[in-house]
Amino acid sequence: MITNKTLKLSLKSLREFAKKRLPDEQLIELDARDECPLEVVRHMCSPDKLGIQLLFIPGEFGGMGGGAFDVYCVCEEMARIDLGVATAVLATFLGSDPITVGATPEQKKIWLTRIAEEGLLFAYGATEPEAGSDLGALRTTAERVTEDGKVVGYKITGNKQWISNGGVADAYTILANTPGGPSWFIVEKDAKGFTHDEPEDKHGIRLSNTAALALDNVCVEADRLVGGVEGQGLNQAQAVFGYTRLMVAAFGLGAGWAALDRAIPYSTKRIQAGAPLSEKQGYTHKLIVPHVARLEAARAFIEETAERIDAGEGSLNTEGAIAKYMATEAGNLAADAGIQALGGYGYTHEYMVEKIKRDVRITTIYEGTSEIMEMTISRDRWQMHLKTHGQHFHEQAQQCEALHASHPSAGADMAALAFHALADVMEKARVARLTRHQHILLRLGELISYAECSGCLARRAARKDENKLNEKANQRFDAAALAALSRIFAREAALKVAEEGLRWVIGAGGVSDADVPAFEASLGLPAIHRAQSGQIADMDFVADVLYGRAAKRAELAA
Ligand SMILES: Cc1cc2nc3c(=O)[nH]c(=O)nc-3n(C[C@H](O)[C@H](O)[C@H](O)COP(=O)(O)OP(=O)(O)OC[C@H]3O[C@@H](n4cnc5c(N)ncnc54)[C@H](O)[C@@H]3O)c2cc1C
Repeated sequence: MITNKTLKLSLKSLREFAKKRLPDEQLIELDARDECPLEVVRHMCSPDKLGIQLLFIPGEFGGMGGGAFDVYCVCEEMARIDLGVATAVLATFLGSDPITVGATPEQKKIWLTRIAEEGLLFAYGATEPEAGSDLGALRTTAERVTEDGKVVGYKITGNKQWISNGGVADAYTILANTPGGPSWFIVEKDAKGFTHDEPEDKHGIRLSNTAALALDNVCVEADRLVGGVEGQGLNQAQAVFGYTRLMVAAFGLGAGWAALDRAIPYSTKRIQAGAPLSEKQGYTHKLIVPHVARLEAARAFIEETAERIDAGEGSLNTEGAIAKYMATEAGNLAADAGIQALGGYGYTHEYMVEKIKRDVRITTIYEGTSEIMEMTISRDRWQMHLKTHGQHFHEQAQQCEALHASHPSAGADMAALAFHALADVMEKARVARLTRHQHILLRLGELISYAECSGCLARRAARKDENKLNEKANQRFDAAALAALSRIFAREAALKVAEEGLRWVIGAGGVSDADVPAFEASLGLPAIHRAQSGQIADMDFVADVLYGRAAKRAELAA
């Protein structure tokens, strides 16, 4: 495990390195030239320089053995610098994941040690032209090569699409169909028959090299089959989804904050109608504060999931999906608001927010699209709803009610309203068999994510109040500010769950006209409407905190 001190030192070196080697002008130029700064990426991954990859390699193979929480912190920091460069580093994390979870001890020793000691860059080759979200449609094949009846190697043939580091990696993990099922193989860059295309001309993350790969009867020895047993590929990929989705969640979070952290100082200097924009409530309460609340709700979920993964609770795929979904959607919206917040300047290259917006767009697509996340989340929680006879989310609500009793300002009462409404929407959907409509299933995924994040942010606010946050946790907001953010988000979540839940249930024919009033009442809509009281005051307070004027305001009030 990495100590907090070591983590903070690594983050500091990363920031200092970026300031020197990747200042804004350099980033703008590389983006315009559509160029991956390979030397910078190698510097970041080189053991005698920044050595970021050492963080996720276990100590026994020469790494630092960082956990999910450490990786989240580093990913957020990298995303704040540049998402393209962050993606190049992520590709080595991803590419080595099948090895970390599924390889034989000998394979781990060879490859993980090489990543640690030589700074080997990896790429992760899963996606194909015809197999994106549905990896089951995989067409790349790995044919057995036998000698005297023994498998001595494989011949791999197929095409891979959109592979990060595709044109620059030293080694690749490639998913291919063997006679025993999908399996990962390690292929080195100079293998005969292995080629890559020119880099794609992309909307964003233009500092990341993305290329298609072609494998034409590429021969590998049998020891390149990860784990040594065929057919384990999809399980090995699944085993790390919680963890890898958390990394992309941290990307969305970091990029969203990067945009807001440009908009906030800008608005203190930009004078319109006689005063700085930061003084205008119609500006801060639309373009800044709600985005901060959504990003911090996602952060709460990321941090809690990372702690649980580090505590050995398993791969937490659904929680990883919720974290990714919420953080990347929030990051996108925040970056878009960042452009609006800078007006015409925001629309130009020079002010960077438009680049951040283009870059962050990928995070709702790669490592599982938002729609696939909605499906994953909804299916899993649907099972919980059924198994508990509809009580799962009522129980979550009760836990929030108990939390509210001990921490009355943490927003847990409003999160409880969201959970109760969610349980009722899901029960109505069960009785009327509404999840036969895929749209309803996916919308439930969104509502579940909002409700769960509201509960999680309330827990985070309460922990902060007790001074019990993880020592590595982000400390940007004090307890009062976190509680206000939690209330802001929970009000939004409760309203969204109840009103959109009502809309979709009625929309799918789940209640008759006559039963609508009773359903509205069961969702607790009047209470949810009353709970909106105080929203503007909380937003005023958060704006004051963000602009460093909360203390002054309190002084004046006293
Ligand atoms: C810049 C970049 C870098 C990437 N890096 C890598 C990498 O390093 N390694 C790698 O293996 N892959 C990588 N990818 C691939 C990425 O993971 C896929 O693009 C992604 O999984 C989506 O697959 P697809 O593009 O085929 O879209 P599709 O799966 O065709 O999806 C298209 C749209 O349909 C929706 N959709 C799909 N299935 C369903 C369904 N069943 N129901 C409802 N809606 C559905 C999707 O949500 C999406 O909106 C990268 C992609 C990009 C663009």
